[in-house]
Amino acid sequence: MKIAVIGGGAAGLMVISTLIEKKINAEIYLFEKNDVLGKKVSISGGGRCNVTTGITDKKELLLNYIRGNKFLIPALLAFSPEEVMNWFQGNGVPLKIEKDLRVFPKSDIGNDVVNLFYKIFKKSSRVKLHILEAVKELRFFNEQFTIVTNEKEYDFDLVVITSGGNAYKHTGSTGDGYDFAKACGHTITSLGPSLNSFEAEEDWIKRLSGLSFPNAKLTFTLNGGKKKEVVGPVLFTHFGISGPAVFALSAHLAFSEISKLSPMKIKLNPSAVDHFDSYERKLMALILNNGARQIINTLSELLPKSFVEELLTMANVSKDKKSAEVSKNERNRICNLLSSGIEVTLISRRKGDEFVTAGGVCLSEVNNKTMQSKLNFNLYLAGEVLDIDGLTGGFNLQSAWATGRLAGINIAKRIGRN
Ligand SMILES: Cc1cc2nc3c(=O)[nH]c(=O)nc-3n(C[C@H](O)[C@H](O)[C@H](O)COP(=O)(O)OP(=O)(O)OC[C@H]3O[C@@H](n4cnc5c(N)ncnc54)[C@H](O)[C@@H]3O)c2cc1C
Repeated sequence: MKIAVIGGGAAGLMVISTLIEKKINAEIYLFEKNDVLGKKVSISGGGRCNVTTGITDKKELLLNYIRGNKFLIPALLAFSPEEVMNWFQGNGVPLKIEKDLRVFPKSDIGNDVVNLFYKIFKKSSRVKLHILEAVKELRFFNEQFTIVTNEKEYDFDLVVITSGGNAYKHTGSTGDGYDFAKACGHTITSLGPSLNSFEAEEDWIKRLSGLSFPNAKLTFTLNGGKKKEVVGPVLFTHFGISGPAVFALSAHLAFSEISKLSPMKIKLNPSAVDHFDSYERKLMALILNNGARQIINTLSELLPKSFVEELLTMANVSKDKKSAEVSKNERNRICNLLSSGIEVTLISRRKGDEFVTAGGVCLSEVNNKTMQSKLNFNLYLAGEVLDIDGLTGGFNLQSAWATGRLAGINIAKRIGRN
């Protein structure tokens, strides 16, 4: 029995480790076009590799997948974030859960995660690493797969496609897996970028570059007209907005057209918890104690000064005005802007900086209990090549590990032990 795994990223590495662990009676070939394994894994989480999430509640966990959450249930039950953590720690990579529930290696070195797989593979005589060997074509004929690489042609009994999506192309994930799946009869859903920053039209945003609100709220309208909001850190940049809440926004807008010709207006609340009354109460208290101070300085007790300056301009209130002289109407305008949200015009996604691809191999064509193709029983698929994408926080790696693990377990069940 000869098995090929196409793509040595998170999913492919987990498939092979599982096959080794289960002592499968087969030769396993891994084709990876890069000169190293797990390039994206090692740069994820800012080079620290956000391995998974510390969220244990299954319902809460599933809320973090924008597409594919129902499909993922068996994989997440079979290899939950806790089990992923146990697996890595049991294999010698100590992990830590940070305050925001992201999980990282204790060393903060993403490469420690990838190096573990090299170590596991080295111990097995069954794994043949074909590094720097790009698969160019996958064919299926007479119950046999043929893989054509940049070097030669091979025949295989069983193939696992783990070639990732098409985000961050320089890491090797250029969407080849979609072509391989198509060649085996699979449908590829619409593809779109997700987890990206946005360019904004407003100059005030760019003037605030570097400023962030740790618990902001972004409100927007989906294509069908449904209002939606996301909460979390928002960072102002020299081009627009970024940060976890913005990434979540982008996940919801993965298939919306956003361009200068078709801009999208959203609302930004600097605080997700404050409302008109709470702002008014706080502002009045400050004004009562600081009547003689300029309003810009008084308000800066509440919000960053650079932002207050822009806010006062938007509210049409002179920043030099003494606090006690700010009229009720002016106070209302300030509190209204803060509580109803300040308009931000998105004019484009930041090109090429999306972390993941939304869309992929159609999930109804894959058995979610085994990761086996429903169209070809000798084909398995796992990871981002599938129509699954999650938010930032370890959810995408978690789904790659979990689907890879499930594929490995089920291939091993079929083929048997050595
Ligand atoms: C900058 C960045 C930061 C991220 N941070 C996080 C994070 O903190 N937490 C999180 O959960 N997720 C994060 N992600 C997303 C996460 O890394 C991916 O979702 C995950 O790696 C997908 O795993 P995969 O195995 O499906 O695909 P990949 O990891 O993309 O692996 C696919 C592999 O297949 C190889 N390949 C492709 N085509 C061929 C071919 N024709 N022949 C041979 N080999 C091929 C590629 O070279 C690649 O190595 C981040 C992504 C990026 C880009």
